[in-house]
Amino acid sequence: MNFKDYIRVIPDFPQPGIRFKDITTLLKDAAAYRAAIDALKELVKDKEIDLIAGPEARGFVIGAPLAIELGVGFVPIRKSGKLPGETVEAAYDLEYGKDRLAIHSDAIKPGQKVLIADDLLATGGTISSTINLINQLGGEIVGAAFLIELSYLNGRDKLGGLDVVSLVTY
Ligand code: 5GP
Repeated sequence: MNFKDYIRVIPDFPQPGIRFKDITTLLKDAAAYRAAIDALKELVKDKEIDLIAGPEARGFVIGAPLAIELGVGFVPIRKSGKLPGETVEAAYDLEYGKDRLAIHSDAIKPGQKVLIADDLLATGGTISSTINLINQLGGEIVGAAFLIELSYLNGRDKLGGLDVVSLVTY
């Protein structure tokens, strides 16, 4: 399946000059959504994985079904202030200023093997702070899986040689 056929590119969103990759057109197609999760599973199935961690909100849409398919648990990473229990946090860079991501302090036990999942790798900022959070808890990161990689932004280079897989590259 050519997944690009199901991804809609919206010019000038959220600001002029950005060509936003809209995955809602893929998600609403049952066969395409299923095929994307199956294809990601195929790319990571030889890894030893205890948990998948995904940043809100689109990391949930990819990470949770992948976790079900692999038979592992799912850990949500959220913006600061959203998780109810005790958290650890990491700052991450936005276009203008900074935001913070958080994970429950007890979400990952030291030594557990964690795969990161998200819809799209752009500059790598979101995943860098996701890595920071998992490292703070002593998790062992075994790789990162994305539906889409924007290779011209070189996000991969920011991730310190992490094993990165993606289904579609722009
Ligand atoms: P990064 O932190 O790597 O620069 O940006 C990746 C994050 O921003 C991902 O969590 C992703 O959901 C979101 N993002 C950035 N650009 C796009 C885009 O064109 N399409 C989608 N679906 N998400 C994007």
